[in-house]
Amino acid sequence: ATPAATMVGTTIGAQNGVLFKGGDVLERAKDVDTVVFDKTGTLTKGEMELTDVVAFEDGEAVTGGETAADGGELAAEARRTEADVLRLAATAESGSEHPLAQAIVEGARERGIDVGSPEGFENVPGHGVTATVGGDEVFVGNRKLLRDNGIDPDSAAETMERLESEGKTAMLVGRRPADGSDGELLGVVADADTVKESARDAVSALQERGVDVMMITGDNERTARAVAEQVGIDPENVRAEVLPEDKSDAVESIQSEGRKAMMVGDGVNDAPALAVAYVGTAIGSGTDVAIEAADVTLMRDDPLDVVKAIRISDATLAKIK
Ligand code: ADP
Ligand code: MG
Repeated sequence: ATPAATMVGTTIGAQNGVLFKGGDVLERAKDVDTVVFDKTGTLTKGEMELTDVVAFEDGEAVTGGETAADGGELAAEARRTEADVLRLAATAESGSEHPLAQAIVEGARERGIDVGSPEGFENVPGHGVTATVGGDEVFVGNRKLLRDNGIDPDSAAETMERLESEGKTAMLVGRRPADGSDGELLGVVADADTVKESARDAVSALQERGVDVMMITGDNERTARAVAEQVGIDPENVRAEVLPEDKSDAVESIQSEGRKAMMVGDGVNDAPALAVAYVGTAIGSGTDVAIEAADVTLMRDDPLDVVKAIRISDATLAKIK
């Protein structure tokens, strides 16, 4: 494009909250044939809320689940309660800044639970947290986290699958006592996120243009597919359980088929993927690291601005013909 056309395109972009980092990207955007959306914070609002707590004892669910952290109907006085599970999960998570963790802590406080501080705490990126609470080792996270720590998550399979097929992120809570006795599954907690209002329209506008729309997430397959369905993304185009450090490899592998991919993301996790993408697009409310790595920044939180970015590129290049 001529310098004048580039200037016009950049200005129109800025007026629409679409910031292009230079003329090159303004020219490239129109050729994008694949858009890869990060899930959390990009297609969804990233505002997690605690929705379910299920207590397990001896490999069985002892409570019903849905939001009832107040104990619910207990089979027997001595049985573990939802409040027990939630208190422990929230205490373990209180040191984490992960949105999933913050929702658990806030959800516990809202339900009148006194959230303590763990004696020790460690993030296990892409899997969960391990913490020391009352001398015991407590685990909150995905199936792999529990398995890696010698706790079999299979008895919670049905509960996990039910919650995940509702699009929720279900997390297992386990404990290994200080006395060295066997680890035990204590329960399941679930957080839900909400899909952004315009996510579905953005996906269908891109598809109408002939662009392949994909989704990438660290979340599990079943939750990812449920969210994909809500926004109109083909389940085949979902890449789930992608570890933070593997997101850029996933984008590179998509591009190795000769595709020109736009990656759209908001998190620190997404920065390497934004950098390797043909066009990296950051959501403006996202982290600075993501914005720095990206070629385009969307000042609003609106997924429809992805379509706008491509259209502005179209229009800018059309002017020189
Ligand atoms: P995303 O790509 O959605 O931001 P992450 O890579 O951060 O996801 O996490 C992937 C999965 O690991 C989550 O879906 C969850 O099951 C588990 N996980 C990560 N952090 C935590 C945490 N603080 N507490 C519990 N589970 C977690
Ligand atoms: Mg994200």
